[in-house]
Amino acid sequence: MSASQSSGSRVPAVPARVPDLQPVEPFTDGTQEAFHQYLRDTPHRLRFDDIRYDQYKQWLLQAQDSDCDNSPKLSRNEQKAHSRVLQKFYLDADEKLCYRSDGRGLRVLRDWQLFGVISNTHSAIPHGGQEKTFNIIMEQYYGIIRPEVHWLLKHCKMGNINGSAI
Ligand SMILES: [Zn+2]
Repeated sequence: MSASQSSGSRVPAVPARVPDLQPVEPFTDGTQEAFHQYLRDTPHRLRFDDIRYDQYKQWLLQAQDSDCDNSPKLSRNEQKAHSRVLQKFYLDADEKLCYRSDGRGLRVLRDWQLFGVISNTHSAIPHGGQEKTFNIIMEQYYGIIRPEVHWLLKHCKMGNINGSAI
């Protein structure tokens, strides 16, 4: 992790008494279920379920295939959404849906990925506060909003222990 670990002769000091070497899971299975219930209870236009994600992806794939005219048959409202999608979204090399934001590409998250991304990001920094976690996520991802990060970090057991989650 740090450059100082490269000195080969030094044996890292182990504390005489280590109360618990098991990594603490910051969230329980119950928290994950409650989080998904929270998402169902609070629909949001920025959130992507599989249907929306796959629809956008299909439109982009059809637009890439410009040799033949296979533009989808759409209602007037859908045409507006369609042209916005072609403008604002693109597929990366792995055909993952991405959003153009100020010259950068943000990976679009599906709703079922939110728990893992928030949890992993928060644990990696490690257990940084709500703003820090949210800002790091927003540098890479699209389809996630602040209240979702807020909700989950309130339930972090580590944060409750050291009082720094929020
Ligand atoms: Zn935490």
